[in-house]
Amino acid sequence: MTNPLSTDAMSQQHKLERLQAADKQHFIHPFTDSKGLAVKGTRVIERAEGVYLWDVMGHKLLDGMAGLWCVNVGYGRQSIVDAVSKQMQKLPFYNSFFQCSHPPAIELAQKIASLAPAHMNNVFFTGSGSESNDTNLRMVRRYWDLKGKPSKKTIISRVNAYHGSTVAGASLGGMSGMHEQGDLPIPGVVHIAQPYWYAEGKDLSPEEFGLKTAQALEAKIIELGEDNVAAFIAEPFQGAGGVIIPPSTYWPEIKRILAKYDILFILDEVISGFGRTGKWFAAEYFDLQPDLITIAKGMTSGYVPMGGVIVSDKVAEVIKQDCGEFTHGFTYSGHPVAAAAALENIRIIEQEKLVERVANDTSPYLQSRLQQLAEHPLVGEVRGVGLVAAIELVKDKSLRQRFDANVGVGTYCRDACITHGLVMRSVGDTMIISPPLTISHAEIDELVAKATQALNDTYQHVKNMG
Ligand SMILES: *Cc1c(COP(=O)(O)O)cnc(C)c1O
Repeated sequence: MTNPLSTDAMSQQHKLERLQAADKQHFIHPFTDSKGLAVKGTRVIERAEGVYLWDVMGHKLLDGMAGLWCVNVGYGRQSIVDAVSKQMQKLPFYNSFFQCSHPPAIELAQKIASLAPAHMNNVFFTGSGSESNDTNLRMVRRYWDLKGKPSKKTIISRVNAYHGSTVAGASLGGMSGMHEQGDLPIPGVVHIAQPYWYAEGKDLSPEEFGLKTAQALEAKIIELGEDNVAAFIAEPFQGAGGVIIPPSTYWPEIKRILAKYDILFILDEVISGFGRTGKWFAAEYFDLQPDLITIAKGMTSGYVPMGGVIVSDKVAEVIKQDCGEFTHGFTYSGHPVAAAAALENIRIIEQEKLVERVANDTSPYLQSRLQQLAEHPLVGEVRGVGLVAAIELVKDKSLRQRFDANVGVGTYCRDACITHGLVMRSVGDTMIISPPLTISHAEIDELVAKATQALNDTYQHVKNMG
């Protein structure tokens, strides 16, 4: 044993095997085929700094997904650790039920109100994005009850939307694979077409397709009857569905329809909130006036769990004045430690001007660098906004023709990315990128270089398969 490095590697290998065995025996993972995972073994991530992760074997990965779209300020922020630690010493927990409150949650509500669109000045706190959308469902129905219109109950969502994984979240979401498990959606949630031009636009131009899919909202309102519709819920761009950015005609037409009918608009900004588009909220980016905004993920940069709903004055007035007791909430609504983390996270975003930096610097740079990948023979389209992007892998570029699903091109590319030290997610054959907002030009160059290597490997693999 003259080489200490190899001893180290052996002990790490031993540790990994021990962890993988225990994982396989005791840990049921979310959104995972456990049987398949048991064969491959889990990738055990041990530490992180900036935009980088290290697994147990010391393999370094550039995190092109900011965890799960959430680590906006990057890893290793000592000031968040300090803020959380201080809060835990002072008041680790108290509830906000029954006439009680505490300074971190109060300050956070005030802070978020100052960053949100001008007509939105209240926050309801939750522990996650899913809980926030459950809150939305109950709040919009309660709102219409109080407005004397109890028949307004149905919520219109979209196919292939993602709004979380609780019963209401998964029902509001439009993922057929999720609906199949647990007899969802629940009654009172319906889904219209998504504005996914690349996959579904056929012979229409993006502009024509955007108009057509937006008009499905009006058709659905008329079909159900305006008196039966409580709200429309949508992500500004679909995240988990594949970073689907609507054609330019889509949101203006939706706005026209929302103005015409008396229904509420829930904008799910769990991914887009807190700087992702180069604005604090994508409502501003797409010029939308939601009645409720769902938040989570970037709210604390994932350092501790927290979510919430930003409530417009129109809805807040009714819920605060006319409701009596709103019989809804969570033990951890406004958790003081989570609120302390969120406040420090927001302070960092402000101090480092991350929102402005995304808008004026890193977004233009990342998007232009990624556009160069559109030349690759495997790439049908590169699209993005702010610091999110998607790369469509296709069999035939000019026909927008995809590979058979069983070829598993996206999965192959995702694994090739890992081999080259990059975390990029695949949604079918769509590759997804959503790095921390702190990513530098040099790190963007590295991301693009690694993605290019993975695309080359994938292309070679596809050619070998014939
Ligand atoms: C992640 C996500 C959710 C769910 O958030 P959780 O914290 O996982 O419950 C809801 N909506 C959108 C748009 C998301 O991306």
